[in-house]
Amino acid sequence: MNTTQVTAALYQLQQLDLEIDRLAAEKQSVANSLQGSPTLRRLRTEHKTAQQQQVAGEQSQKEAEWTLDEYNQRLAAQERRLYSGSIVNAKELQALQQETQTLRAQQSRQEERLLEVIDIVEALTEATRHKEVALKEADEQWKQEYVVLQARQSQIEGQWQELQTKRQEITADLDATLLKRYDTMRRSMQGRAVSKVEQNSCQWCRVILTPSEMQQVRISVKLQTCSNCGRILYYER
Ligand SMILES: [Zn+2]
Repeated sequence: MNTTQVTAALYQLQQLDLEIDRLAAEKQSVANSLQGSPTLRRLRTEHKTAQQQQVAGEQSQKEAEWTLDEYNQRLAAQERRLYSGSIVNAKELQALQQETQTLRAQQSRQEERLLEVIDIVEALTEATRHKEVALKEADEQWKQEYVVLQARQSQIEGQWQELQTKRQEITADLDATLLKRYDTMRRSMQGRAVSKVEQNSCQWCRVILTPSEMQQVRISVKLQTCSNCGRILYYER
């Protein structure tokens, strides 16, 4: 291999490596996405919370109903006593009437309380239903996304193998020391160790090459680097 062929191979390798980098990033992103949908996780939590609030509301409603029942029963008993005619003592009768009145007021307040609780439970039930619908939709959407992601994952795997094979083919002909230099440069130079020379300038940093530098690049006896950015110069013929 002459220097021109070497720089051409390095440039080709770089194009391939950039593609591999892009694919690696996508591979990682797909793997992350396959871990689960954050939206779905959030909706699950929200649905669960709504359910718990609904259950707590229903419990309060039951308790309010029991309390009201108790008032109703006590009131019915009082009234039975009151109208049975068994109480003849005026003082006792007055006391019983007073008690009945108090109990009626309590019963009425409890009825109001129960209505309020029923309203709250209705709102909570509606909220749970909304969350359930949102959750179902998100779940459906996630299932579809998952299929697409899995398909993409196996596609990436195939492309990955292909690129690795191509890479091996290119690197097999290149000198190990040069490859090491290329890899090191790529790491410290934003993935670009090689820069094309176009219109007498380094394509990466746009510095214009001097006539003698252009001459060197053209005759290509040994590897030339850009005097400004330090990248290996590749002159396409
Ligand atoms: Zn440069």
